[in-house]
Amino acid sequence: MKKRLIGLTLQECEAFAEEIGDRKYRGRQLYKWIYAKRADSFAAMTDLPAALRDTLSEIAELGYLDVEDVDDRSTSDSVKYLFRLQDGRHIESVYIPDSSRKTLCISSQVGCGLNCQFCATAQLGLQRQLTAGEIIGQVLTSMRLRGHDLTNIVFMGMGEPFANYDEVIRAAQLLSDDNGLAIGARRIVLSTAGLVDKIIRYADEGHKFRLAISLNSPFQEQRGQLMPISRKWDVTALLEAVKYYAVKSHKVPTLEYVLLAGVNDSREHAAGLKKIVQSMPCKINLIPYNPTGALFSRPSAQHIETFIRWLLPLRAGLSVRWSKGDDAQAACGQLAGKKEERLL
Ligand code: SF4
Repeated sequence: MKKRLIGLTLQECEAFAEEIGDRKYRGRQLYKWIYAKRADSFAAMTDLPAALRDTLSEIAELGYLDVEDVDDRSTSDSVKYLFRLQDGRHIESVYIPDSSRKTLCISSQVGCGLNCQFCATAQLGLQRQLTAGEIIGQVLTSMRLRGHDLTNIVFMGMGEPFANYDEVIRAAQLLSDDNGLAIGARRIVLSTAGLVDKIIRYADEGHKFRLAISLNSPFQEQRGQLMPISRKWDVTALLEAVKYYAVKSHKVPTLEYVLLAGVNDSREHAAGLKKIVQSMPCKINLIPYNPTGALFSRPSAQHIETFIRWLLPLRAGLSVRWSKGDDAQAACGQLAGKKEERLL
């Protein structure tokens, strides 16, 4: 099997160049071509000797992903990409442009083992971890498809990023390397369902990427039903870890809150959420649910406005991720979900 180069660090590219009998600096050139210049073939690497390019073509490949489907039927401007991995499994990324950003929402695992009740990806179970190369492959392949760079990356696609901690951190470091893809660390968001041990580790390691926590209910009993991970680490333990992160990093984490009609959108929920916000530095991101099955539905626009009024005034940033409620293609996990069902 050919060696895949996307996902290698600078030092690994240098070591690879030496392994194949060339000079270390050729590895640095290779690294630049892969990440900074986004070359999608060895032939395009014009300052490498022809003999080296031939050798590379024989023994290595870059690692761009195969595109199985491009879904641009969304009523917003988002585009969903379905990628096929080498082992035939599928993952998705969603391109979300707005007036100032070109964001890609990427996957960190094939499927997910955390079984959040409102999530389409959860129905797949965890099939396997993605490598850093497969994570960055989503970014580079999407850039090639779009014909331009991306400004922001959010780890909010399939999978729990902190359940694939090492590969996700490695990928985020490569994405933010000034000598490579150079996407600013503050423009990369890692979103977790609440793996408390990893939040603490992340805080201790001092990473600069932004952190978001998928909260979805201020009440332990209900959160435990919606998100089984909350039975291992309850809301109190989660919030303690988030506070620890905020103090240690001097950064303001985002609490994401998927609004589910008649489930977590009452006045009591707004009051509970508000109480949390008052106890720690954080921002709130409300995400009106995009239905992926019959179990949950999205609150009406009028009720969402009411929920926001209940929250106000709020001593924290508040944003709402509006998307069309009937826009099923905007629901995370859905496209790959359909494909993987056929594979299982
Ligand atoms: S919401 Fe995220 S953590 Fe929960 S099951 Fe879905 S992908 Fe996994």
